[in-house]
Amino acid sequence: MNTANLIQAKARAVSTTGESGCLNATNWYALARAISEASFDHDLMNRVATVRKLVRGRIVFTTSFGIEDQAIAHAIFRQTLGIEVVTIDTGRLFPETYELWTQTEHRYGRRIPAVYPDRVSVESLVAGQGIDGFYTSRSARRACCAIRKVEPLQRALAGAAAWIAGLRQDQSDERADILFAAVDAHHQLIKVNPLFDWTRERALSFIREHGIPYNSLHDRGFASIGCAPCTRAIAPGDPEHTGRWWWEHEQKKECGLHHNHYLRTQRPARS
Ligand code: SF4
Repeated sequence: MNTANLIQAKARAVSTTGESGCLNATNWYALARAISEASFDHDLMNRVATVRKLVRGRIVFTTSFGIEDQAIAHAIFRQTLGIEVVTIDTGRLFPETYELWTQTEHRYGRRIPAVYPDRVSVESLVAGQGIDGFYTSRSARRACCAIRKVEPLQRALAGAAAWIAGLRQDQSDERADILFAAVDAHHQLIKVNPLFDWTRERALSFIREHGIPYNSLHDRGFASIGCAPCTRAIAPGDPEHTGRWWWEHEQKKECGLHHNHYLRTQRPARS
């Protein structure tokens, strides 16, 4: 048995331990470690297929249609993997993002369902802070992200065994420690970042090589694309995240979707 097969066998053994197929805390960490060991294979198609093989239960991939997400969606759709692909429609996305959503569905012949923010919460938010109230303070901005992004994400991930996301280590200092797979204690699942060690250039060349549709805003200087009022183009050489929430000056700029970056492959020691 070669190394790849050994790792897969080990992970499969871990993932099937536990009553009713449920992972307990101990084998969660072991499974995350075993999946991470599979990241020695740098081929994205194999990485994503391996995750599907090793994890029992629902796997959800959340796409915001960035270049990384488009690469992962390609790997899932082209291999017809049993992984749910969903997006969170905050209601404030760019028209170009909606166009790409449609293009992607046509390209792969697959519907990409959306999870929407809770209507009552959005009405209350807008009544309280105004339609663009997020510009007024960091707490107002975080309140908007909590309602339009974080809560819908929790619903999208409810009951899932694993969550696939398009994070890369070199996107920001905050993301420098992310792993291929780790336990996300906040969402109670295994979080997988198949592109954790890729550069932006590598993701772009994957997109070009496979003729994958991408957001036309990338050609106009937009690096990381989120909601329209909170994203702008950046100058060549600027860090990718400087185009997001540019009016905030804190170093740490996240929307709350990926706040748990110290994701672990080891159980934390008891204090
Ligand atoms: S990115 Fe901006 S518009 Fe989108 S949810 Fe956050 S604050 Fe609201």
